[in-house]
Amino acid sequence: MEVSLQSFRKRYTYDSQKDLLGKGGFGEVYKAYDNEDKIFVALKMTQNIANSKYNLIDEIKRFKKLNHPNIINHIEAYEVNTGSSDIHGVPIVYHVGVLEFADQGTLADLLKEKNASPRIVEDIAEDIINGLAYLHTQNIIHRDLKPSNILLFAEGEKIRAKITDFGIAKQADATAVSTQLIGTVEYMAPEFFSTGNITTSADVWSLGVMLIEAFTGLHPFGKTSDGLSNEQIIGNILTKDLSHISDGIQAPYKDIVTRCLLREISIRPANANEIKGLIATPQDAFSEKTQLISHTSIPSNTLGSTPAGGNKWFNFFNKNSNFENSGFGNDLKQFYFNSQYTKWFIIWIVINIFFLLLGKSNHIKLDVFIPFLNDLEDYDIKILFSI
Ligand code: AMP
Repeated sequence: MEVSLQSFRKRYTYDSQKDLLGKGGFGEVYKAYDNEDKIFVALKMTQNIANSKYNLIDEIKRFKKLNHPNIINHIEAYEVNTGSSDIHGVPIVYHVGVLEFADQGTLADLLKEKNASPRIVEDIAEDIINGLAYLHTQNIIHRDLKPSNILLFAEGEKIRAKITDFGIAKQADATAVSTQLIGTVEYMAPEFFSTGNITTSADVWSLGVMLIEAFTGLHPFGKTSDGLSNEQIIGNILTKDLSHISDGIQAPYKDIVTRCLLREISIRPANANEIKGLIATPQDAFSEKTQLISHTSIPSNTLGSTPAGGNKWFNFFNKNSNFENSGFGNDLKQFYFNSQYTKWFIIWIVINIFFLLLGKSNHIKLDVFIPFLNDLEDYDIKILFSI
């Protein structure tokens, strides 16, 4: 909608210095009072530069139709004609997007304060996952998911989180191959640096990085604000050992972040809807394993490291299984492949084959052969037999 500066100023009251909320890559954001609807709003403004690839009006129009409690509400878009011209005689026009105003700032602000309770962080995490799942259902890849793009709102005792800043979002159906760095390196998926082919799964990676930062207060790959160069951060994203990446995080997020940070895209959740299912469903070790075993093999160079001092049994199975880096149960995995039980189990099979060849039918019972087997949980035994 095209309006004059006068009528725009009549509707929205703000002070261009006191009410500046922040500067993004494409312009400024102000807190303003909407005199017509009697609410505070956020005004996102850019000067319309001829031939600029970024068009805020198009962006707002495109995302106005989105409707979800965890996605920022795009209220209106204006082309504000200032009535003046630049030195070349070109009229100065501002593009303004009106967004709902986040009264609690961003997740980045909250993390800086370092006093958010785990309960609040969990609520925020769930909101982000729900919002991202909705975006992915709409075939939208966010491409720049990071704490400063999560806006926070007070809702009674609770904090509501909403995803914002779709400035560089693209429709997922247009194959998004990027040749230039867009978004923030610290949250970028490894495939960005190899193929540049970005899918909804890249947002899942960024989600994992952000959740680790929110739950532990530490960025898993380091930040430029900590003094690291982009090259060092990219090096960490591509090669850092991820086997302890979820240490200190509680279920179900422990499992969720491990899955989000799978470097191999074919086994990482394809979109946030798959993550959403993991919050809702209680963790069932047996079904999880069964599900993961059907995945295709993972190239070994994409894996996290083997457990320290991993033994030959572990290495033997690791070459032939998808367990490593599957994102599921390091503890369980180590129990089977890195322990005495596997060795005894194989010796037991060899002895039984020996008896079979001798024509004796009564084989040695497993629980007699390995007395400590009685101490195991029921489902562990089931899995042991299913290998
Ligand atoms: P952006 O250009 O979207 O990156 O916004 C720059 C900064 O403005 C953000 O980091 C926030 O601090 C602030 N901001 C953006 N949108 C809003 C909003 N809807 N409500 C409150 N603050 C906002």
